[in-house]
Amino acid sequence: MKLPKTVNKYCPYCRKVTEHKVFIIKSVKARTGLVWGSRRAREGKKGRGNKGKYSKRPLSQRKRGNIKSSKGVDIRLECNICKKQTIWKIEGRYKKVELSTAIK
Ligand SMILES: [Zn+2]
Repeated sequence: MKLPKTVNKYCPYCRKVTEHKVFIIKSVKARTGLVWGSRRAREGKKGRGNKGKYSKRPLSQRKRGNIKSSKGVDIRLECNICKKQTIWKIEGRYKKVELSTAIK
């Protein structure tokens, strides 16, 4: 799927239609430290003993490998006037998402 680099969309902060820059979010950094669930999972993996749910890696990671080759995309828009970001919802999963200047 190809997307334009700029689009005209409604900005809820400016309350009018303005030009927006398009971003594709490729990876989000994992939270470090203080999130309870992730901390417990990390601590569960080190050391010996049966840690129940956290003893082994999940089945989907161990056996199946990369079966799914398409992903849901996370696309954000940045308003050119107020520089605030909003999420642009796009339905479906896509193998590849590109930004191009050709489409408007
Ligand atoms: Zn705006």
